Amino acid sequence: MKKHNFAAGPSILSPYTIKHTAEGILDLDNTGLSVMEISHRSKEFVAIMDETVQLFVELLDIPSGYSVLLLQGGASMQFCMVPYNLLKTKAAYLDTGSWANKAVKEAKLFGEVDVVASSKATTYSYIPRDYSIPGDADYFHITTNNTIYGTEIKEDMDTPMNLVADMSSDIFSRPIDVSKYALIYGGAQKNLAPAGVTFVIVRDDVLGNMERDIPTMLDYRTHIDKGSMFNTPPCVAIYAAMHTLRWYKEQGGVAAMHKFNVEKASILYDEIERNPLFTSNINNVDDRSIMNVTFVMKEAYKEREADFLTFATSRGMSGIKGHRSVGGFRASIYNAMPRSSVEALIGAMQDFEKSL
Ligand SMILES: *Cc1c(COP(=O)(O)O)cnc(C)c1O
Repeated sequence: MKKHNFAAGPSILSPYTIKHTAEGILDLDNTGLSVMEISHRSKEFVAIMDETVQLFVELLDIPSGYSVLLLQGGASMQFCMVPYNLLKTKAAYLDTGSWANKAVKEAKLFGEVDVVASSKATTYSYIPRDYSIPGDADYFHITTNNTIYGTEIKEDMDTPMNLVADMSSDIFSRPIDVSKYALIYGGAQKNLAPAGVTFVIVRDDVLGNMERDIPTMLDYRTHIDKGSMFNTPPCVAIYAAMHTLRWYKEQGGVAAMHKFNVEKASILYDEIERNPLFTSNINNVDDRSIMNVTFVMKEAYKEREADFLTFATSRGMSGIKGHRSVGGFRASIYNAMPRSSVEALIGAMQDFEKSL
């Protein structure tokens, strides 16, 4: 039985991505070679890299003056690369989840960190809105989608200073105004490709102002100068990303993906509201993520959570167990998740309700 893949990351990819990547692994465009075994300097791979970057620019409408980098090390490497390249004396961070918290920890190695607000005390169940950002901060760092907790900042913020965003789990889920950001980064394994490639979109003029020495591999300028080919890039992951982006384009781009994502999320949230067994921990509806839908069983049914997990699993749901820090359930419904899988989960929730 084909599973309904609700995993948080690595996570579902479109059948288009998987099929075309598999074909290129066997034989890349009739070259008689696998994409896994060709030189990253070959004209075939250079074309893959160029098209992938071009599709980033096209789909996200990235203005001139920005570079798109395809690196390694995951979003977690960006937690240190960002302050290494941008933090002179002080940075401001919004603490909306454990990924944000990990980013704070790394930034502290490079200077003063002002955590302007945190929702940690309520297990990150909301996005703080009431805070002020120190005017002398070198940048303000946010995590747009909190993969573990199911909260999301769904609009591009206006900030007077350089805005840096970890968009690991909601990139390409909605149109964004890139011009409002100095730097956007994320791991690929949620909405783009298998693990192994990390994207960075950086406004070139924020770089080059540091007094400290930056190790070559951790300096964004190295990768801008070499078109993400300073060293061997993760070729297969980039190849898969290219196919995902082709598929997004074919679907009508990020505006179409957004409409589709909002529909999927709203039918699932509606069922969580309607079904007397379940509830959301995220009280503010505006904060509810359209990518990771978290929910728990109401107090009266708490002891049935394990039963529901078994029931849903027997109906083909995979990866819906909530993160250990939150409990309950988490349905990650990234771009590639078909509406039919969300409907299958809703069906399981309804049938479980009837079975009690
Ligand atoms: C998954 C995730 C990360 C960690 O990504 P890695 O590529 O594993 O380092 C960081 N931030 C967010 C928001 C995530 O969802």
